Amino acid sequence: MPSSRLTATSRSAALAAMGDDAGLDILVIGGGVTGAGIALDAATRGLRVGIVEAQDWSAGTSSRSSRLVHGGLRYLYNLDFKLVAESLHERGLLLSTLAPHLVRAQPFLWPLKQPVVERTYSAVGVGMYDAIALAANRRKTVPFQHHLTREGVLATFPDARADKLVGAIRFYDARVDDSRLVITLVRTAVRYGALAASRTQVMDLPRDGSGRVTGAVVRDLEAGEDITIRAREVINATGVWTEAVQDLAEAEGGLRVLTSKGIHIAVPRDRIQGSTGMFLRTEKSVLFIIPWPDHWVIGTTDTPWTEDLAHPVATARDVDYLLDHANAVLTSNLTREDVITTWAGLRPLLQPGTKDASRTAKVSREHTVARVAEGLSAIAGGKLTTYRVMAEDAVDFALGARARSLPSVTSATPLVGAEGFAATQRLAGRIGARYGWDDERMEHLLSRYGSAVDELLALVDEDPALAEPLASAPMYLRAEVAYAVTHEGALHLEDILNHRIRLAQTRHDRGVGALDEMAGIAAPLLGWDEAQVSREKDAYRAAAEAEDAAALQDTDSAATAERLRGGDLVPLAPVAS
Ligand SMILES: Cc1cc2nc3c(=O)[nH]c(=O)nc-3n(C[C@H](O)[C@H](O)[C@H](O)COP(=O)(O)OP(=O)(O)OC[C@H]3O[C@@H](n4cnc5c(N)ncnc54)[C@H](O)[C@@H]3O)c2cc1C
Repeated sequence: MPSSRLTATSRSAALAAMGDDAGLDILVIGGGVTGAGIALDAATRGLRVGIVEAQDWSAGTSSRSSRLVHGGLRYLYNLDFKLVAESLHERGLLLSTLAPHLVRAQPFLWPLKQPVVERTYSAVGVGMYDAIALAANRRKTVPFQHHLTREGVLATFPDARADKLVGAIRFYDARVDDSRLVITLVRTAVRYGALAASRTQVMDLPRDGSGRVTGAVVRDLEAGEDITIRAREVINATGVWTEAVQDLAEAEGGLRVLTSKGIHIAVPRDRIQGSTGMFLRTEKSVLFIIPWPDHWVIGTTDTPWTEDLAHPVATARDVDYLLDHANAVLTSNLTREDVITTWAGLRPLLQPGTKDASRTAKVSREHTVARVAEGLSAIAGGKLTTYRVMAEDAVDFALGARARSLPSVTSATPLVGAEGFAATQRLAGRIGARYGWDDERMEHLLSRYGSAVDELLALVDEDPALAEPLASAPMYLRAEVAYAVTHEGALHLEDILNHRIRLAQTRHDRGVGALDEMAGIAAPLLGWDEAQVSREKDAYRAAAEAEDAAALQDTDSAATAERLRGGDLVPLAPVAS
């Protein structure tokens, strides 16, 4: 069985193999949750599959979500039971089988403002949510709803505004580190034989005389070289880039995708006293206040976005909107000074129908798979929670009739770190005692690596200094920086800080203070000289400063101008239009 390790070396080998004459059964474009899920689905059907991502794994929308694995309580208001059931089934699978280490049940309070009518109405809604989850999973995977009086709310959530509520309903959903989910999916796909390369941008989708797409010309953005990959089927899973990528094939058909922006803010854990999350209905949509071990995440917004797709940024107006809505239900009196960081993500909003009325296999309310040209299909929409269903639909569609004899097996394929997780949890005390780590540290490690914590321990056994916490971010071990490079495919400091040890989203300085220490660990592993170390640090600092400067602007265009001034360490290649 191939190793699940992602490294600079495995990346080069994968690119060389993707370019060989044998060709691929399926080439997946896009290393967000959708593409990563497709690569895993295809690999576990025994297909020869490759996946390329232009940036780092998850760098698009899939690292910028609310980080919830949820059924979507709000869809119940549209009586969309099928959609909710599908998501709740996936939530149950992830919690119990696929990724119990990464996906954790999360209680939320739904504050009630009126005594009888609202409580009854909401209780019926949440009751249905629980009942659908029970039916979809044929067992209870999270606790059922619980009703709280005003006093009960204050005992659970001391910073809730008592004058604004009569009580609350507690219900459960789940949370996940979105980037970690994507990287784990890619690693699992690689374990089953997928070839995976980040920082590899599709530049062209060549077609043969009959008009069939024959593969892709990709640019290795690290080496600056172009490689031609032959593939029987190409699947475009590029989210908000869907139209730009399908245009490379100069086809008439395809999906139509608009873009809307949603932002989040992180605030310090001690600025809000509460032991659950909070769920609020807003005039436009919903707002979540979500607890993480050392911070709160508050989001999100929903506004049209017409600026640069690779650099969505929050504005001061977005931040104020979230603060105002949070302060309406909290006594914490949050101000801009409390905001640790901001991040913005782009929703691919599928437009009804397809270009040229192309053939579509599945049009759910949330995602669509369409034939763009022979040899090229596209999938877009959906959400983090339903990545597995999307992947199954996309591969079924690409395979056509062949799919019947080669059905998906991902519902029974645990992700890296999930196999043996329950047993590893039982061993946690002994592992901690051996390495001098307390329960909190062990919980942190298990929630990030699951049973793959063995691999991290092997690094520590080789170099005991890696057992120490990072001086600049003591919640993390030095070994976690090394592991990001030796197992999780980090090629740059920004890959570590943005998507693996996510100080970019959880620290006031976005992790700038950790650059020296992290570079000290990563440089020897990646063979960097001093000049490269400086380039890495300078580029990260510039991007971090630019994100902060952007969040002081009022408009998307002014904020984007600030962000673009920060530049990129590995810029995307311009594509001829
Ligand atoms: C604000 C917000 C909050 C959300 N919260 C939740 C939530 O809590 N729970 C949930 O279930 N869902 C949530 N979602 C939805 C979910 O995040 C998205 O549906 C999902 O991440 C989309 O994944 P994707 O893989 O389709 O797209 P992306 O993650 O954007 O991946 C597409 C990738 O394609 C790559 N790419 C583009 N062009 C090329 C090229 N030419 N060559 C190679 N690669 C290329 C990009 O670099 C990118 O990484 C949220 C979305 C937003 C915007």
